[in-house]
Amino acid sequence: MGIAVRDLARHYGNVHAIDGISFDIADGEFVSLLGPSGCGKTTTLRCIAGLEDPTGGTISVDGRMVSAPAQGLLVPTHERRLGMVFQSYAVWPHMTVRQNVGFPLSVRGAAAGDIARQVDEALRVVGMAHLAERHPSQLSGGQQQRVALARAIVGSPRVLLFDEPLSNLDAKLREGMRGEIRRIQKRLGVGAVYVTHDREEALSMSDRVIVMNQGRIAQVGTPRDLYRRPNSRFVADFVGKVGLIELSRDEAGWRTADGTQIRANAGRADGAQALGAVRPENIRLQTGHGAATEGLNHLTGRIAEAQYLGPFTEYVVEAAGVTLRSYAQADLEPGAEVTLAIAPDDIVLLPAE
Ligand code: ATP
Repeated sequence: MGIAVRDLARHYGNVHAIDGISFDIADGEFVSLLGPSGCGKTTTLRCIAGLEDPTGGTISVDGRMVSAPAQGLLVPTHERRLGMVFQSYAVWPHMTVRQNVGFPLSVRGAAAGDIARQVDEALRVVGMAHLAERHPSQLSGGQQQRVALARAIVGSPRVLLFDEPLSNLDAKLREGMRGEIRRIQKRLGVGAVYVTHDREEALSMSDRVIVMNQGRIAQVGTPRDLYRRPNSRFVADFVGKVGLIELSRDEAGWRTADGTQIRANAGRADGAQALGAVRPENIRLQTGHGAATEGLNHLTGRIAEAQYLGPFTEYVVEAAGVTLRSYAQADLEPGAEVTLAIAPDDIVLLPAE
């Protein structure tokens, strides 16, 4: 049954940290809350966890209403059957790994034999069984985070909540843990809410992503939907590098500021002005007098900057009065004249702001 959030609000005086948001997370679904600092994602997670009192709306977990301030209902955290992992691992230094992981069960008064069995299983799932008797000070950061993960999954939670759990780990470990967290969550078959400001993390781990901005939901979708079909400049920009072409409409269709005609098949814009959003990998760089490819948009311009990145070079090109980025394997120098070829399906029309 997962999580159902309706019209959730958290106001601090005039500050609307969350401003009436609604979403559902199904059992087994992994959903990220993605957005810039201060957009309200942590507050949303803390409201679900019961660590923060919402000022409006409702939250239900696994079919049970856990928060409805208008009716004075607020179920305490420990009765919500959640597993939580935070950025600071929050493992207790004076307890062994085994004691840390068993702690939530001892608090609930579980029998010793039961605790031992469940702790063993949780430690096995996160690959820490061999370090059960160590103290946190004898563990690496990644291992401490695994202890936190084991503690979150012990006792069969109905939902898992993550607040930037990988931010303190180095890049390589972070990538490995992404796959592992997802594998564990899928295996448990419970819903997960994952707060992050890292777009790669959100895109690579999630079934769906909720992009937040200023306390509201900007767009919800699968990672591919959000990347390929953003509905606003904010989302286009937040989920990846993007070139934005200012367009105006006349009888013949859309034109750039310098009069180049543009055909765009994706997205929508109702007025006479729009932005055409295009990802760098969808802009083909052509040099010399190569034949124009039929059906594509062509913009002529000049390379302003080149940054060699190994698998490809990232070029900044000034063309048709705009600055666009393009990835290409060709070796070109700044100043070179180029033509940019873009398929109409790869230009997403967005409302002009
Ligand atoms: P970050 O990635 O930096 O943690 P976030 O998206 O998680 O950001 P929140 O921590 O949810 O953002 O905060 C949302 C907004 O609410 C921010 O503008 C913040 O300043 C404000 N806020 C949070 N807690 C309080 C509080 N106790 N009193 C007043 N304002 C608060």
